[in-house]
Amino acid sequence: MRKPGCNEENVQMSDVLCDFCMQEWTDDRPMVEGHQGSCVCGQCLSAAYRSMVLTEVPVPDAPAKCILCLEMRSEPTWSHQPDGPRACRRCVRQSAAVLQKATEFGWRKPEA
Ligand SMILES: [Zn+2]
Ligand SMILES: [Zn+2]
Repeated sequence: MRKPGCNEENVQMSDVLCDFCMQEWTDDRPMVEGHQGSCVCGQCLSAAYRSMVLTEVPVPDAPAKCILCLEMRSEPTWSHQPDGPRACRRCVRQSAAVLQKATEFGWRKPEA
């Protein structure tokens, strides 16, 4: 997400916040953008990847909305805090692939 009140014509790295942990984009905290300016940082992506891709998780009874693809998903979703925005497993997999490909960040998918 964008920091409220930032200049959309001249967005700086510090104007870009992770939608999950609300931290700013920095050199050590790479970001992947979802739909409508939603963002997930490398740290949250690692945590989400560990808890949904490396770990066997049951499909929940009720679908949940993913803030990255804006769809209701009948699959495991991850959130940084209990009532916070959620990311679906598909978006976490895709974002992890994108971030790992951007080798300048040196981010790697967590391994089991
Ligand atoms: Zn984050
Ligand atoms: Zn999604």
